[in-house]
Formats: sequence, C-alpha cells, structure tokens
Amino acid sequence: MERIQRLVIDAGFTCPNRDGTLGRGGCTFCDNAAFHPAYSHPGKSIREQIDDGIAFHRARGRKADGCLAYFQSFTNTYGPVSRLRELYGEALSHPAVRGLVIGTRPDCVDEEKLDLIASLPGKVILEFGIESCYDRTLERVNRGHTFEDARRAVRLSAEREIDTRAHFILGLPGETREMLLGECGMINELPLTGIKLHQLQILKGTPMALEYEKHPEEFLLPDLPDYIELLADLLERLRPDLRIDRLAAAVPPRFLAVSPWSGARPDRIRTLLDACLARRGSRQGRLFGAGYPL
Ligand code: SF4
Repeated sequence: MERIQRLVIDAGFTCPNRDGTLGRGGCTFCDNAAFHPAYSHPGKSIREQIDDGIAFHRARGRKADGCLAYFQSFTNTYGPVSRLRELYGEALSHPAVRGLVIGTRPDCVDEEKLDLIASLPGKVILEFGIESCYDRTLERVNRGHTFEDARRAVRLSAEREIDTRAHFILGLPGETREMLLGECGMINELPLTGIKLHQLQILKGTPMALEYEKHPEEFLLPDLPDYIELLADLLERLRPDLRIDRLAAAVPPRFLAVSPWSGARPDRIRTLLDACLARRGSRQGRLFGAGYPL
C-alpha cells in the first residue's frame, strides 16, 4: 500500500474573520502559528513548500511514496475562483502530489467554488471547520457563521460527490458533556464522510485565554482518562460509517495557556480509546439511532 504524507501549505490566504469582512479579532481560540510547521510559509511558492516539506519529513526518517498538499492555514477557499484554480493547480502539478486537502469555513464556499473543487483530479478532501453544532457557542467564540451555514455547505459539497469532512472542538466555553453527546445526532445527519475531533486547547495570547482566566468554571477541560471516556461516549453515538480522522490535537506545549494534558501521541490516544471500548464491550455506532440525551 502507498504511504501518503500530508504536507501543510500556507498559500497566503486570510479569513473573513480577520480581514475586517466579518471582524478583525478572529475566533477567540485561534492562533494559526501554533499549527505551522517550519517549512510552510506564505513567502515561499507552493512548489517550494512541497519540496521543503518532503525534505523536512525525510530528514526525520519519515518516508512516503507521495503526498497530499494540505491547504490548512486560514481559509483556503477565500478568494476568487481564478486564484483558487491557480493555487490548487500549482500544488497538483508537483510530481509527488497525489491530491489535496482543502481546509475552509462553511460560509466561504459557493456553488462555483465547489464546482471547481469537484472537477480537480486526484484525491481531494474538503474539510470544513464547523467546531460546534450550537449557534450560541459559535457566537460566543466569534465564529461569524451559524450551524445552518455548515449544513448548507456540507450538503452542497456532498451533492457534488466531494469527499467532505469536518472539524469539531470538544469543550468550547459553555458547552457541557451532555451538549457534546447531543451534537452526535446533528453530526450524524450531515452527509459527511469523516470528522476530526479534538480537545479544546487554550492558547496563550488568545481572547479565550483571557476568558478562561475570568471564568474557568465555564470550561469542561477533562483530564486524559476523562477525555478518553468522553471520546468513547461520542463514538458510540456516531454513525458507524463515519471516518474518524483525528481524536486529539497536540500543539507544541509552548503555545498552551492551560494544559490539563498535552503531548499524548495520536497512536496512544487510539490505544487508550480502543482499550476503553473493549472494556465496555462497545464500538463506534453502538448507540447510533438509539436517541440522545438533551
Ligand atoms: S479559526 Fe479559521 S476562521 Fe477563525 S479566525 Fe482562525 S483562521 Fe479565521
């Protein structure tokens, strides 16, 4: 089987929540610098970032047969279609690139952009940052879009048979464990092929770090054993066919303002979760369709 690496690309996009279109402060949890590998920089061409990304991984002994160019930084459909075609085309023209992952906001796609994405060759994954299914949470973290925007974007994307996935943060301020379990029903109804889940990480210098200082009681922040139990509860309620692409995030510890736990490798989280599900005699989807609390 081919081993495929994801290489992060910063194509120089911004986002409507930062350039003044919707706001200037951004989402209260956001610090894009925390997710940036050293080789990814908007001052370089996309081709250079891919070459440097391959060299970065090779120097660490990580070999691959090819890569997916991951347009991850900021909002990667936020520009005219002609510009998007040029940037995606530049990545796809690199001989090592087998396809793209395009990260964006649900309110930054339209039918024309989705038609372009649906027409791209190779493996193409469109990844929406939905973050929460609750409008009051989206408002509180200053997302600048609603859950209805997410519903519409996912539907339009799936109608074009684009491999459509989404990202959710577990434990945004004001959200309880019951609310997170309640989200499973709403996620199951979206025509997604996969999701990424991760614990809330409160990053230094963000508005959320200030909010936490004032109101720590508003944040769930489970420790690692509790987080594994939460993941197991969620997986039991999620559709059995939904790909779970990620179970936790790990920004470098120097970025963290609050750290109930950090640095657990994805394979360790997977192992702990598998052990938890085995102990329960359970699996993903065991409670799918059985009704949800809330
Ligand atoms: S999380 Fe995304 S949408 Fe929000 S401010 Fe950061 S880049 Fe913009």
